[in-house]
Amino acid sequence: MDYGQEEAAARFGEDPRGYLTTTTKFEGDESGQVKAVHTVQIQWQKNDKGQFIPQPIPGTERVLPAQLVLLAMGFLGPEQPLLDALGVERDARSNVKADHEKYTTSIPGVFAAGDCRRGQSLVVWAFNEGRGVARECDRFLMGSTELP
Ligand SMILES: Cc1cc2nc3c(=O)[nH]c(=O)nc-3n(C[C@H](O)[C@H](O)[C@H](O)COP(=O)(O)OP(=O)(O)OC[C@H]3O[C@@H](n4cnc5c(N)ncnc54)[C@H](O)[C@@H]3O)c2cc1C
Repeated sequence: MDYGQEEAAARFGEDPRGYLTTTTKFEGDESGQVKAVHTVQIQWQKNDKGQFIPQPIPGTERVLPAQLVLLAMGFLGPEQPLLDALGVERDARSNVKADHEKYTTSIPGVFAAGDCRRGQSLVVWAFNEGRGVARECDRFLMGSTELP
């Protein structure tokens, strides 16, 4: 059944999920157990690098009682320490900078493919890029390749 928003709320109650909201603080009790979550609503705004950055909306702060907190963060970009150690160039979304079908990074002999290159994506793209980057590694090492 496809209910409109108002009819769905009348039948099933208000949607308890909160969107465009970020946690600013976990509050603990005297024994260190969580007792509340502090939140604020956000809006997405572009910064001078063209990245979308969450901006808190003043006056929307809330304190929600909580005894258990589960974190479901989603994909926040590839982990940076290895990329920092290599000194490999990143794009504006913190992914490794490399072109599709080429996969070469700013460092010769270092290749990137899949989510760390294109950002959070799909398994089909992981297959596609995994095969492609194998081909380009082969070409780099052997001077030519017969891989598809
Ligand atoms: C919760 C969730 C649900 C998803 N559901 C779907 C779905 O239904 N359908 C779909 O198509 N896609 C889905 N995806 C996306 C899909 O899983 C990814 O796009 C895909 O796995 C990316 O493949 P990848 O090889 O690029 O990266 P990954 O699968 O992330 O592989 C990267 C590997 O590198 C390893 N690694 C990282 N750092 C290091 C290091 N320093 N040294 C050695 N190893 C390292 C990691 O341990 C990992 O094994 C989902 C993703 C998530 C997180």
